[in-house]
Amino acid sequence: MGKLDGKAAIITGSAKGIGRAIAVAFAKHGADLLLITRSTPLDRLAETCRAHGSNVECITADISDPAQALAAIETCKDVFGKVDILVNNAGIARDGLLVRMKDHDFELVLKTNLTGSFNCLRAATKIMMKQRYGRIINISSVAGQMGNVGQINYSAAKAGLIGMTKSAAKELASRSITVNAIAPGFIATDMTNAMSDRAKEEALKLIPMGRLGDVDDIAAGALFLASDDAAYVTGHTLSINGGMYM
Ligand code: NAP
Repeated sequence: MGKLDGKAAIITGSAKGIGRAIAVAFAKHGADLLLITRSTPLDRLAETCRAHGSNVECITADISDPAQALAAIETCKDVFGKVDILVNNAGIARDGLLVRMKDHDFELVLKTNLTGSFNCLRAATKIMMKQRYGRIINISSVAGQMGNVGQINYSAAKAGLIGMTKSAAKELASRSITVNAIAPGFIATDMTNAMSDRAKEEALKLIPMGRLGDVDDIAAGALFLASDDAAYVTGHTLSINGGMYM
């Protein structure tokens, strides 16, 4: 028996990296999936999830646009009749030192990582409140907990996501909707592949476990928070970072 049998889950930015791993883990545990991508095709992932027995619907949407986010979330209700789980995973980085940070790069990262998550959170919450059930998981970052050189925009957005998680958790607890965050450390994905070798070496020095994390480490945390095992956990930020920040 799967931990998410009969549940309908939405995962934003699920075509690759952490989102993809969460989608596969949820499919293995019996969830039906609404997968949201911005541009990377979802066909192969959908095929993999269907092979595990999931019903899968794929949507192309830019979640930073409120209308597109709303339409995508409502599609889950239209197709599966409900929205049990939302994973706000879509995110981008546009790194640069504070004094050289372009307005556009600051605003784009806030608009995608923070406002985009809010757009999906608000749309899903309206459905979950009527159901009197929901599990919301916001993918934050260790950068939002401890800061990071060259990531003024990204750290601000990810710290904001932790605040948003706590406020939403307080507002929604009485409706049996839990809201939690995961703060990954450095995880091997396209996002970290884009770092320079020097930055990667520096990052490794900060990790007591001495290695980057794997996408499946994050998927395991998301599965826990989405499942009944975490029914009494809300407003929490789960650090999955190899000891990088305690
Ligand atoms: P990734 O491989 O770059 O994947 C990010 C996904 O988000 C992509 O599929 C991308 O779509 C999607 N996306 C970006 N902007 C979007 C938008 N406006 N609308 C819809 N989808 C959008 O990144 P990742 O490393 O797996 O990161 C996943 C999440 O974990 C992010 O929130 C990231 O900040 C967070 N995180 C990652 C790490 C790490 O070390 N990797 C550490 C801490 C936190 P396209 O494929 O179409 O571009």
